[in-house]
Amino acid sequence: MESNRVLIAGAGPVGLVAANTLADAGVPVVVFEAEPRLPENLRASTFHPPTLDMLAKFDAARRLMEMGLLAPRLQYRDRAGWAVEFDFGVIADLTDHPFRVQCEQYKLNGVLAERLATFAHARIEFSSPVVDVGQDANSVSVTVDGPDGRRVIRGNWLIGADGGRSRVREALGIELEGFTWPERFLVASTPFEFADVIPNLCDVSYFADPEEWFFLLRVPGLWRAMFPTRAEEAEADILSDDVIERRLQRVWPKRERYEVRHRTLYSVHQRVAESYRKGRAFLAGDAAHLNNPLGGMGMNGGIHDAVNLAEKLVRVARGEASASELDRYERQRRPIALEYVNTITIANKRSLEARDPEEQRTWRETLTRSANDPALAREYLIRVSMLASLRKAAAIE
Ligand SMILES: Cc1cc2nc3c(=O)[nH]c(=O)nc-3n(C[C@H](O)[C@H](O)[C@H](O)COP(=O)(O)OP(=O)(O)OC[C@H]3O[C@@H](n4cnc5c(N)ncnc54)[C@H](O)[C@@H]3O)c2cc1C
Repeated sequence: MESNRVLIAGAGPVGLVAANTLADAGVPVVVFEAEPRLPENLRASTFHPPTLDMLAKFDAARRLMEMGLLAPRLQYRDRAGWAVEFDFGVIADLTDHPFRVQCEQYKLNGVLAERLATFAHARIEFSSPVVDVGQDANSVSVTVDGPDGRRVIRGNWLIGADGGRSRVREALGIELEGFTWPERFLVASTPFEFADVIPNLCDVSYFADPEEWFFLLRVPGLWRAMFPTRAEEAEADILSDDVIERRLQRVWPKRERYEVRHRTLYSVHQRVAESYRKGRAFLAGDAAHLNNPLGGMGMNGGIHDAVNLAEKLVRVARGEASASELDRYERQRRPIALEYVNTITIANKRSLEARDPEEQRTWRETLTRSANDPALAREYLIRVSMLASLRKAAAIE
């Protein structure tokens, strides 16, 4: 197996899921992480049902359920009082986890890194950014700027899971095609208990509004509120106490100021790499695709990439499949990023921000009809939970 060594750039959720899948099968793996320790920044916090099914084999779904909270329902509302709800119970026959788990993604990374450390044939090298990639017909190499200087490490395959600004993607000369929205998104977290004041509020609630849509996601001890910002607003203003306060007061007006524990402003893209493979190197997760967060599909889709690719690498390492099997990875996963995740997340954004009253009415009527009809609700949840995307990918030869 030593000659089958897989190199992975990036110890995010995608790199670590791939590494655990490979290590479980006895394939040697080295993960290079640029940071001195696992980053603990607040990013994705939603795990969809099929992602939890995949993480169950690492016992990570159970750990996430312990550390996070279960959201069995999903809600759309507006400021005037319209609300519809979808209950994941209608897809309970298709998944072992008929709910979303709300938990910060860095907690998953901790669980996966801890598990990886139990394998003699797997390791994470911290403070080790990959700065270059080379390859020939028989091997691939990465140049790493490690704590002891620059080194070249050789392996059989490379997975670039080094995030949206992927150095691996750049070194391979692969374009990230698509566009960036003019507005950035603000996330503000507060311990204020919105569920005490907003009637029947679900843990995952999207609020449509032609002036300023927002969504509320609960994680343990906090609500995360996400808002679009205007392109002309300055970063310092957006992140200032007063402007965040004004936005939160529009969610629920109250006399006291809001306590804000975290604030993040980030650019939002709809981009997909022109190719997911170059020779012995592959791209997965944010290195391969970026989308807006309306639907919580970025990290989930990346984990689905990681499982798809790592399982193929395992079959090739064991001699159960020829190397041409690896071409199926791009054939199966790239159309999902382009036609499924991109389409759904763009449609979600357009629906929440729609200004045209006719467009708003059509969206509300469609959702209300779906929520009230068990067959339509099931179809809807199969799509938004990403089960449909996995079925679609599996059907591609
Ligand atoms: C504020 C915010 C909110 C988000 N909310 C959601 C959400 O609700 N739902 C959702 O599904 N997604 C969400 N996302 C997106 C989600 O966080 C990403 O899709 C997810 O982190 C992708 O995982 P990844 O492993 O591909 O990349 P990352 O998590 O970015 O991990 C990449 C890793 O590679 C390391 N690295 C970078 N360069 C190098 C290098 N040259 N060499 C070695 N290591 C390197 C980085 O330090 C990092 O540890 C959000 C993102 C942001 C920024």
